[in-house]
Amino acid sequence: MILGLAVPLATWRDLVYLFAIIGFTIALKGLSSPRHARQGNLVGAGAAIVAIGMTFSLPELRHSGVNLVLAFVAMAVGVVIAVPAARMVKMTAMPQMVAIFNGVGGGAAALISVVELLHWHRTAAQPAVYQIAEVLLGVLIGCMSFAGSAIAFAKLQELMTGRPITYGGQQAINAVVGVAILGVFVAALVTGTISLVWAMAILALGLGVIFTLPIGGADVPVLISLLNAFTGLAVAASGFTLGNDLLIVAGTLVGASGILLTRLMSQAMGRSLPNILFSAFGSVITATGGAEGETARPVRSGTAEDIGVLLAYARKVAIVPGYGLAVAQAQHTARELADALTARGVEVFYAIHPVAGRMPGHMNVLLAEANVPYEQLKEMDEANPEMPTTDVALVVGANDTVNPAAQNTPGSPIYGMPIVHADQAENVIFLKRSMRPGFAGIDNELLYDSKTTMLFGDAKDSLQKLVAAVESA
Ligand code: NDP
Repeated sequence: MILGLAVPLATWRDLVYLFAIIGFTIALKGLSSPRHARQGNLVGAGAAIVAIGMTFSLPELRHSGVNLVLAFVAMAVGVVIAVPAARMVKMTAMPQMVAIFNGVGGGAAALISVVELLHWHRTAAQPAVYQIAEVLLGVLIGCMSFAGSAIAFAKLQELMTGRPITYGGQQAINAVVGVAILGVFVAALVTGTISLVWAMAILALGLGVIFTLPIGGADVPVLISLLNAFTGLAVAASGFTLGNDLLIVAGTLVGASGILLTRLMSQAMGRSLPNILFSAFGSVITATGGAEGETARPVRSGTAEDIGVLLAYARKVAIVPGYGLAVAQAQHTARELADALTARGVEVFYAIHPVAGRMPGHMNVLLAEANVPYEQLKEMDEANPEMPTTDVALVVGANDTVNPAAQNTPGSPIYGMPIVHADQAENVIFLKRSMRPGFAGIDNELLYDSKTTMLFGDAKDSLQKLVAAVESA
């Protein structure tokens, strides 16, 4: 009853779905800043639970007998697998976890479309052309997303090589498969033949695989973001098929945010999306630096004690984290060092590059895990103006994201990528294990600069030594 009026269940359903949609939108807003990301996540999860609860209370599901039981069994299996997996996953393995979750989402959307198709066949229903198109789109995008995500997972989990896999005529073969899919799509639409839908599903699975093979392991997070957008669109297509407004809006939100995230990541890497998807980036390494000391050019390396004194007597220190921080799991020790410095009156901030690490928000998530105060986190655009007045830039396992070649070497693979201007600080300290390059496979002149000192070793060990040195300075 609302205001004394009997409200039909369908109206309740629409109202609850509307609230869930508002919840998803608020969740996305929350996820856009590290400060509110946790709350955003909770709001999104809460909205999803309410929406699922409402769906299960609808008569068509409540009275669906064995299907209801199957749905509960599937949900129980999902919970038993996903909850421990999400709790136990290491931060460095997060991209592959996202890949596999995204893949099953795409697969589920494709299956929903297939089930609807089989239902029409069983009941000898005559669906309209636009309904067949929705089903076909759901199968096409869902299958591509499933297969692409499975390969992305295998690459990131090192079940197969992470290097780009290329072969002669690759683009032409991809184009032929794409055209074949288009042909089968049109034929299925016109004739309504069910076997053509199976053919299209197989071709779409194949395209997902061959599209992903030439993408290098470290570019895969951008691909996952794109596939995530595909999954959203497949879900929206299923929403049209089922006549479910919630699925349409939720799928579109995922599709739109996935596309925006893909765009932002490409911009932050200074590369176009076609370059990321088709250039087999990472197959050639041009750097000359090798293991510690194994370089023709001289570099200055220091001791933890000397660097500890430099840090302890600095006025302003910028910690610039990168992928090595994640590998070494050094986020807690980085915080300990920042705390030790702050206790001595040193101003400390973290300069966060948007694509430092191997997935969007990688550094923010790690540092949030170590409870780094939000006011110390500065995004690149906010951090860079501070760099010229910074005494020490402490680069912890970052390389490409502070490489000045991105700004001053046209022709460099990373030319055009915005960087954290560690080079503008008075002193630069690099914590890394060797002279080896980062993801882009290229040398970094800043390592050889006269104001740079290297502290070789695992980032966590080096930071522990620096904490001890600062405390005894
Ligand atoms: P980089 O990959 O450029 O460099 C990481 C450095 O960390 C290496 O040079 C490595 O040197 C060092 N390192 C590795 N392990 C350790 C360890 N245990 N202790 C200390 N140092 C370690 O990292 P950045 O974060 O600067 O740049 C990220 C790169 O990844 C960019 O090129 C970006 O475009 C790309 N990328 C980012 C994505 C994202 O979403 N964040 C997605 C896709 C690509 P050494 O071996 O000598 O220790």
